[in-house]
Amino acid sequence: MAATPIPYCDETACRAAACVPTLCTGAGVRSNTSLYERSTRVIPGGVNSSIRAFKAVGGSPYIVSRADGAHVWDVEGNRYVDLVQSYGAVILGHAHPAVTAALRATAPDGTSYGAPTPREMKLAEAISSRVASCEQVRLMNSGTEATSTAVRLARGATGRKRIVIFDGNFHGATDALLAAGGSGVATLGLPGTAGVPDEAVANTIVAPYNVVPTLDDRVAAVIVEPVAANMGVVAPTQGFLQGLRRECDRVGALLVFDEVITGFRLGPGGAQEKYDVRPDLTCFGKVIGGGLPIGAVGGRRDLMATLSPIGKVFHAGTLAGNPMATAAGLAALNELTDDVYMELAARARRLSSMMRDACAAVGVPAQFPVVGTLVGMFVGDAARGALPVNFDDAKKTDEALYAKLFHAMLTEGVALAPGAYEALFVGLGHNDDVLGDLAERVHRAAIRLEA
Ligand SMILES: *Cc1c(COP(=O)(O)O)cnc(C)c1O
Repeated sequence: MAATPIPYCDETACRAAACVPTLCTGAGVRSNTSLYERSTRVIPGGVNSSIRAFKAVGGSPYIVSRADGAHVWDVEGNRYVDLVQSYGAVILGHAHPAVTAALRATAPDGTSYGAPTPREMKLAEAISSRVASCEQVRLMNSGTEATSTAVRLARGATGRKRIVIFDGNFHGATDALLAAGGSGVATLGLPGTAGVPDEAVANTIVAPYNVVPTLDDRVAAVIVEPVAANMGVVAPTQGFLQGLRRECDRVGALLVFDEVITGFRLGPGGAQEKYDVRPDLTCFGKVIGGGLPIGAVGGRRDLMATLSPIGKVFHAGTLAGNPMATAAGLAALNELTDDVYMELAARARRLSSMMRDACAAVGVPAQFPVVGTLVGMFVGDAARGALPVNFDDAKKTDEALYAKLFHAMLTEGVALAPGAYEALFVGLGHNDDVLGDLAERVHRAAIRLEA
């Protein structure tokens, strides 16, 4: 049952009995646009993660006041069926009772100590016991920290410099991995953003996804999203991941799976279990924090021993293994039984078919690929013919059409990510009732598009 939203107070004269000043927006006005405008004065672009700013779809963001299960509410009281779900981090749905209870129980004992705790051991055990390749696990604070640590670890362990990544894969805001590729062939990376000097990507090679590149003994590691979920959802083609394993073994390079999205989303063992390929290192984030900031690197014991304090590759973090994040993460992993994954996969298929039917009914070219519990979306030319297998295919997306669809959905009370290349996320909150309601909203949104 959804609780009644707490009304927003006026900073000077709050009339809400339930108001908690530190939780209150205290904005004096309840309008998305006025709050956003006020945010832009103190936060660059008004956002702390750039995609949230609606630049790709136009307009200005809804400002979230609260969320529950499959729904988010904005500060004006509008409710949306949420398919963003913190970009997949809250697989149990928003404010799941198991997570909120864990956080309530944890907070009074203190929220960070600078000393080891039993709970970080338990979360590492929980990950290690489910993901066979992760004999040991180091916890940290974000997926970005996980990928940057994996790069340092791989270079330190092999004594080599080169890193191979794939065009259209995303590994967070790590300089060495923010490299742009050429078209269709493996190339030395160019800086993918201002602020990354040539030198930072001088040892980064960008290859097309779903083609096994030929490596040599200068390569420290190949880093890959085993199911690409940041260029729409693109499954690995038959033999791709196995081919990477073989090619890495041939030249003594490490294979690193970036499972920040797929880890504990596709199933308890992630993409590596689904495709039966054992990486040397795995990066995690999102789901393992139950909606709190977290990241992790797991892998072979001998490699993990390369990390300080045992080995020579430095890693440390003030909040790493944080009590709140590990409590939320453990609570989340506890709920994720095999039955839950079966149910989520069924919901993913249902979401895909309702979206496909609605778009087909109004002649909008769209495809919604499903990989296990993950749903992707391609509109425009990317949706004509076979499903995209690489970034060149995915980029045929009609971004203007996506923007129209996005706003039609938002008007009908459905929140998609404000970017054409994000996955659609279902979780424990998207039950039959929600999906039934969603189907009607999607249908009405499609009709808006037609008009
Ligand atoms: C989200 C994501 C990251 C970055 O994680 P953050 O916690 O946002 O730093 C890295 N890799 C992949 C595949 C991701 O989807």
